[in-house]
Amino acid sequence: MPKYIFVTGGVVSSVGKGIATAAIGRILKSHGLSVSIQKLDPYLNVDPGTMSPYQHGEVFVTVDGTETDLDLGHYERFLDASLTRTSSVTTGQIYQTVLGKERRGDYLGGTIQPIPHVTNEIKGCIRAVGRESGADVVLVEVGGTVGDIEGQPFLEAIRQMRKEENRQDTLSIHVTLLPYLGASGELKTKPTQHSVRELRSMGIQPDIIICRSDRAVDNELKAKISLFCDVDSRGVIPLLTMPSIYEVPLVLEEEGLGDYILELLNVEGTEHDLQDWRELVARLKRPANEITVAVVGKYVELQDAYLSVKESLIHAGVHHDCAVNIRWVQSERLEKGDLSSLAGVQGIVVPGGFGERGVEGKIVAAQNARMEKIPYLGLCLGLQVMVIEFARNVLGNADANSTELAPDTSYPVISLLSEQEGVTQKGATMRLGCYPCHLEPGTRAHAAYGVDNVDERHRHRYEFNNAYRDELEAAGMIASGLSPEGDLVEVCEIVDHPFMVGSQFHPEFQSRPLRPHPLFREFIGAVCAYAGLDQVSDSHPVAAASSDVTGDVTGAIAGGS
Ligand code: GLN
Repeated sequence: MPKYIFVTGGVVSSVGKGIATAAIGRILKSHGLSVSIQKLDPYLNVDPGTMSPYQHGEVFVTVDGTETDLDLGHYERFLDASLTRTSSVTTGQIYQTVLGKERRGDYLGGTIQPIPHVTNEIKGCIRAVGRESGADVVLVEVGGTVGDIEGQPFLEAIRQMRKEENRQDTLSIHVTLLPYLGASGELKTKPTQHSVRELRSMGIQPDIIICRSDRAVDNELKAKISLFCDVDSRGVIPLLTMPSIYEVPLVLEEEGLGDYILELLNVEGTEHDLQDWRELVARLKRPANEITVAVVGKYVELQDAYLSVKESLIHAGVHHDCAVNIRWVQSERLEKGDLSSLAGVQGIVVPGGFGERGVEGKIVAAQNARMEKIPYLGLCLGLQVMVIEFARNVLGNADANSTELAPDTSYPVISLLSEQEGVTQKGATMRLGCYPCHLEPGTRAHAAYGVDNVDERHRHRYEFNNAYRDELEAAGMIASGLSPEGDLVEVCEIVDHPFMVGSQFHPEFQSRPLRPHPLFREFIGAVCAYAGLDQVSDSHPVAAASSDVTGDVTGAIAGGS
């Protein structure tokens, strides 16, 4: 039977619960336990797929094609595991299921109420992760802050579960903030006390309190929190703001969190082994070199919109022993002809995106990368703009475009499958989740992965238009990755360029700190070469692990070959 750890947050939102949860997952894994993580999001949307990045940041896509909260990305990266549909639950989904059952008459004429019908459904979703993952420990993070009206059914479900399961089979961890008051020169515990009181009023006594703060928390303060919140002093865990999120497991483990959790849950674990993680952090903190990469997007003032891209660049940088400075470039600025924001960059990434705004600027970025031979990585829309740019400026068809952006274009190099001649698959629905891709030997993409077949995650509607493939290939833009049937172009690259590669899928969802994604890894390698830096030696454990493409590295990526 799995053990359940419930993580709630208090005082303020964005307190770092998601990273704390992911870090606890890593710690437990390092003690030899198998771990799965679930996010309970109290909002009424069925999933975040339709929410604006301004509301929600990045939409993270799982292998089975679920559009989820960006915290799932943190979970996957810290756990080095692929999660599925069951790991992401929203109030919208819960109500959809409950109302579906009501319409089918499953409740046999009963009155449907938040308790027990909604709470039963929530408990069912939590236990489904335990059942399906077979994990020793399931971490369940509740989104939002304790006290939010919309979070109450989730807290009530957790209260019930803590009663129903054996005493030592569940644990409650509350993550709070200790604000610093300049006037009195001290960290304040009162908001934490209030937040814990709020949690207790819902019938949940926390076992552990993780206290986020920007300053050191002394023993006196810990004792005070322990006394006022009725938590053992070993359960008061300070978490100082760290320069890198990847330091969090190490900091929490230094406070003895892993052993304490194991003790409370009465589970046998191994001595923790965070050696590889320690090496990762050491390498991250003392890079030998530094490079600057432009990420050209529409939401650059909101970097959470490109969270997985940012993390993937960091992972690849660690491999090459190199700090990656990301220059966030607003694509609309390029559109107006102002290229100054690209001056001095040693690599260009155009990430995914939807809609027309800013696309012309991304095309300018692709043109700049092609002509100046600056390494370029195009992700989904980034591939599409690379194709449009090539068709316009190399093939000379000024009207080349995607039908998403210009429905009446006379040269639709990117279009919906239903618009393409001879393609039998119909419908304009989103292609979501993992699909296989065959890599053409002798290409950069193939060399990066080192295998013939891979599985990668998708989230898009429009596709490379095969009608123009021969023409583009003859001019030097080749399709280096194709669907197994050969009808969908998955990866393109420019032959006469040090590294100009675009993928229709999103490699950023499968990059891991200790196993950077092959395309990001090779891209950063090309950036280092462009910057005139020495190439990394593969002798370092992190570098060696991530260059071992036939082994663990491609575990999450390699397909059937
Ligand atoms: N808007 C494009 C499409 O739907 C690209 C999507 C993306 O970049 N994720 O095909």
